[in-house]
Amino acid sequence: MAFDSLSERLQSTLKKVSGQGQLTESNMEEMLTEIRLALLEADVNYQVVKEFIASTKEKAIGADVVGSLKPGQVLVKIVHDELVHLLGDEVSEVDFSKKPTVIMMVGLQGSGKTTTSGKIAKLIKTKYAKKPLLVAGDIYRPAAVDQLVTLGKQLDVPVYEKGTSESAENIVKGAMNYAALNNNDVIIIDTAGRLHIDEPLMQELANVKEIAKPDEILLVVDSLTGQDIVNVAASFNEKLSITGAVLTKLDGDSRGGGALSIRHITNVPIKFIGTGEKLDAIDLFYPDRMADRILGMGDVVSLVEKVQDVYDEKETMKAMKKMQSGRFGLDDMLDQMHQLKKLGPLSGILKMIPGMPSMPNLNDETTDKRMKETESIIYSMTLEERRDPSIITLSRKQRIAKGCGKDLAAINRLLKQFEQSKQMMKQMSNMDMATGLPKMGG
Ligand code: GDP
Repeated sequence: MAFDSLSERLQSTLKKVSGQGQLTESNMEEMLTEIRLALLEADVNYQVVKEFIASTKEKAIGADVVGSLKPGQVLVKIVHDELVHLLGDEVSEVDFSKKPTVIMMVGLQGSGKTTTSGKIAKLIKTKYAKKPLLVAGDIYRPAAVDQLVTLGKQLDVPVYEKGTSESAENIVKGAMNYAALNNNDVIIIDTAGRLHIDEPLMQELANVKEIAKPDEILLVVDSLTGQDIVNVAASFNEKLSITGAVLTKLDGDSRGGGALSIRHITNVPIKFIGTGEKLDAIDLFYPDRMADRILGMGDVVSLVEKVQDVYDEKETMKAMKKMQSGRFGLDDMLDQMHQLKKLGPLSGILKMIPGMPSMPNLNDETTDKRMKETESIIYSMTLEERRDPSIITLSRKQRIAKGCGKDLAAINRLLKQFEQSKQMMKQMSNMDMATGLPKMGG
């Protein structure tokens, strides 16, 4: 598959980042050099690599390594986000709602233009339940017309063709009329390709554009081409102002560099990817999914996201100070518990931490039940009691038990547990400063 070797290199590099503390210029240097080499080796455009590294470095230095995260994990997330950004951030979809929507397909010969025209026709028919029309505009290659006719038959989609004797301009004019008469929703024009860009081809495409007034001009590029696709895209874009790119043959063995560079260099969004020769081997292009695929380590990325989402630095600092001064009360414990709960089921969080041993006796249901019990007991206490549980006498315990509908033993258990964890907090030199919670198993 495309990106395989880049993926392997990036992963093994990022796994090497270990240790504690913040990310600094010195602890990142070797790793940034490795990432740089990995990208260059994958044939990513030099300028793109330079900017990628600079931006990763800028974001990483001084990045908050919050919660129980490790610098390596935070770095994985930063590299992931930079990849998503490089690939265009958001999904860019083709809008098929206008009637008719006209799509002009352009690209070099062999890039997969005709095949992709068929794939899009199939998508429109099956997924969007619309009536497409395929237009055979490549008049220089007789085989191209035949190929499209065959695809049309396979898909049961009409193909407008006039062989190779009429001009592309005339064919497109005829096709527009045909579509109006036959109620076609989407017109997909397959145009001529060459092995290299040349002026007469560009002129013909510009004429076709003038007549068809396409809503989309999709440039089909072969991801196996490498860096040269960036130049091809830039030339097509300059002449035709393309609205999107389709990356084909991502199922092949490309190093991926061209695919990674094209968005950044041309600022044209990638709209579809081709992942095989079959007519359903087409997908929308999702920058985040592609970054996940390149980087792997999706579990680390979502762990970091979750921790960063719920991490409330001010609250935690407050809790930490209280702990250090011995003023940590049951209400603080409740707050911390709520923070932890926002992360989702505990077993899920643990599973996301690479290298975390599985804990067979950790059961979400019982943990959740215990948390709820603790919550209801604390809610039955007065503010005073929560802040200083040492004032809770037997009569107070009885009142609390009545209030939350638990027995006295449950109240005692919680108070004992709280006392124990308070003791432990004092003793722990390497306390988990970030969450303020005793470490798991404590
Ligand atoms: P055109 O000259 O641009 O119209 O290119 P074609 O549509 O004829 O495609 C050229 C070759 O690439 C054909 O053999 C296609 O089957 C193949 N092809 C197109 N898209 C893909 C793809 O996404 N994956 C693979 N593996 N092959 C593809």
